[in-house]
Order: sequence, then structure tokens, then C-alpha cells
Amino acid sequence: MNIYNLNIDELTTYFLNNNDKKYYASQLFSWLYDQDKRIKDFDMATNIKKETREKLKQDFTISTLEIITVEEAEDVRKYLFKLADNHYIEAVLMYHDYGNSLCISSQVGCNMGCAFCESGRLKKVRNLTSGEMVEQILKIEEDANLKITHIVIMGIGEPFDNYDNICNFIKIINHPKGLNIGARHITISTCGIVPKILELKNFPYQVNLAISLHAPNDKLRQELMPIAKVYSLKELIDALKIYYKKTNRRITFEYILLKDINDKEEQAIELVNLVKDLNCYINLIPYNETEALQFKRSNTLTIAKFYDILKKNNITVTIRREFGGTISAACGQLRSKKEEA
Ligand code: SAH
Repeated sequence: MNIYNLNIDELTTYFLNNNDKKYYASQLFSWLYDQDKRIKDFDMATNIKKETREKLKQDFTISTLEIITVEEAEDVRKYLFKLADNHYIEAVLMYHDYGNSLCISSQVGCNMGCAFCESGRLKKVRNLTSGEMVEQILKIEEDANLKITHIVIMGIGEPFDNYDNICNFIKIINHPKGLNIGARHITISTCGIVPKILELKNFPYQVNLAISLHAPNDKLRQELMPIAKVYSLKELIDALKIYYKKTNRRITFEYILLKDINDKEEQAIELVNLVKDLNCYINLIPYNETEALQFKRSNTLTIAKFYDILKKNNITVTIRREFGGTISAACGQLRSKKEEA
């Protein structure tokens, strides 16, 4: 078992079950997560008695991810990792003026099958464990020698198809003795699995929720995203209203602009009408073209017009700043090159 899978309560239970001291849990958390410690060997946890360290060595591994490649551009670093079972995942580090954000993967592959998405071309092999998600942060902080301040769960995979591990991951990284990343600095991005949106409203951490919308009506959304055949836009919007009522957290919509598909003026109007009753903001995403798929990015003028229509209709809207277009930045590109090689 990967030691980073355990939240502090689970670690406390582990020590109590061994008739060890309860406070070992917070001591070990410090050894694992304090920026000046981050031990790679349990023997370095010198305030834990030898016998217990031996038991920890038998029961847990401390490092399971290996950095295979790093691609770098001015404001971004993209990492390809190999997992212990020889599968590959990606994570992307982005430098902002407000801090360093990391986009992490939540699964090996993805079963959502969105037509425009590179990650979905390769089916899900398995969920990532919470520990494998934690390790993406630890390995990159060490490699890039910095502190990651923001996490977006927006890499390969559908986080709501791995819900329990995501929640545990958030508990671990949010904990003051863990990585101490504020819940408001953590964003979960989903294609819109309605029952999990309703479940998240009861999750006692103030994380951000982003919804991959990408179409203003059911017909087009069903052509682009198979999940739209399971949950209609009405069901999705109704769930988001319930979510908002309970959490008071503003919702983000992601909308990729695909040339001649979802970028027309009447579609912008349709989008306004769809979301206007929600406290939300829309993030327009210039599409990252990828070799294997035929979708094209909308041209700059079309993007600007689409933006203006939303803005004029009092929708809070931004155009996503672009990172690393030249370095296989479309999510899943590094991995599919590797797995298909
Ligand atoms: N499954 C989750 C999280 C992973 S996808 C979700 O659907 O939200 C993260 C975001 O990247 C989604 O909004 C997805 O639609 C978008 N995306 C996928 N391929 C893209 C590409 N080639 N260019 C730009 N955004 C893309």
C-alpha cells in the first residue's frame, strides 16, 4: 500500500491498531509532507521508534511514481509519469501571477469518450489511488523546486468516476499537516455526472466545481459528449441549482470553442439563456488541436464575438489564457504518444 493513500485519521487508526502512540500519525505526516522533510525512507522518521519503522516498511511503499519526461515552455511544464504498473499519466504545472497551479490526472485513460478529447481515445484502465494523485504534487514540487498553491483536477480522467479517491485526496492535501492547500484553491472539473454533483454538495470542503459544458443544447451536446445522453442539460442545470443553494459556491462552466460546431452567434445566445439563472462564470477555451482528431480551433475573431455576446448579456466570462501550445499541451497527448508507440 502507498503511504500517501492514508489521510491522517486512517494513519491514526493504523498506529492505534498496532498499539502505537496516536501522535505518531501527525509526526509521520510532518515527515512526509513538511517542505523541509519529505522523507523517502521511513528510517529517516527518527522520532518514531525502530520497531514501528520496520513495520511501516513492511506495510507501505513511499514512492510509486517516476518522472519520465518533462516538456517546458515559458509559463508551463508538462510532466509524463510512469506508474508502478507501467501505465502513464500526465500532469501540467502552470505559473500564474497568483501562484503555481497543477493540473493533475485522476484516472489512467477515461471512459467518457468526448469526441474532441485526446484522453478519451484510450479507454480507462483503472482509477488512480489518492496516493498517486498526492504524489503528482510531491514529485513536481521537488523537481521544479517550488510550492504548488492551486490544484485543478482536470487532467486525464473523469474525477466523478473516481469519487471516493478524489475526496480522500482532497482531505490529505487540504490538511494543515498535509500539503495545506486551501479548499478554495482546489477545483474539480467534471463532464457532468449529476448524482455526484448532488453528492459533492454535502462534502464538507469548500472546493470549486467546474462543469465541462461545450454545447448550449442537448442535441449538440449528445453529439460531442456521450454523458449528455445519460443526463439532459435540464437535469444538469437543476442539479447545479441545488448544489448552489446548499454551498453558495459559484459554478464555473468550461466551453471549448470548436470551429463551425459550437461557436456560432446563435449558439452564444442559446448559452446565455441556458445559464442566466445561475451564479456562474464561463471560461471559453480555445481548442488545442490534436493530430488524431479532426476538430479545429475557432479563429480569434469568432472567439472575440462569442465572448462579446456573453458579456453584453451580463454573463461573467473569460477566455482561457493559453499554456504551452507547442508542447503537446492538449490533455492526454503525451500519454497517448507513449502508450501507442
Ligand atoms: N473529465 C473531466 C476532467 C478532464 S478534461 C471533464 O470533463 O471536465 C478537462 C477539460 O479539458 C474539459 O473541459 C475537457 O473538455 C477539456 N479538453 C479536452 N480536450 C481538449 C482540447 N483538445 N483542447 C482544449 N480543452 C480540452
